Amino acid sequence: MSTDKFTKRFCPRCGSTNIRWLLPQDWSKWECPDCGYMGPFVIEDGKIAEQIHKEYLKNQDKIHGEGNAHDSSNNR
Ligand SMILES: [Zn+2]
Repeated sequence: MSTDKFTKRFCPRCGSTNIRWLLPQDWSKWECPDCGYMGPFVIEDGKIAEQIHKEYLKNQDKIHGEGNAHDSSNNR
C-alpha cells in the first residue's frame, strides 16, 4: 500500500531533496547542488529536513539582507 521502500533523502545542510551521489560507484559520498554540501551524511526524515530547510532559508535571508534592509531608526 504505502511506499515505505522508497526512502527519500535530504541534504543535512539545506534540506534539499536534490541531493545525489557524488560518484555512482561510491554511494557513501553525497553531493547537494543547492548548497554545495558534500559528505557521507544524508537525512531520511522529512520532518527534520523541513526544519533544516527553514533554518537554511532564514540564514540565506540574513546573508542577503545584511546591512541596511530594515534600518528605519534613521528615517523621518
Ligand atoms: Zn544542500
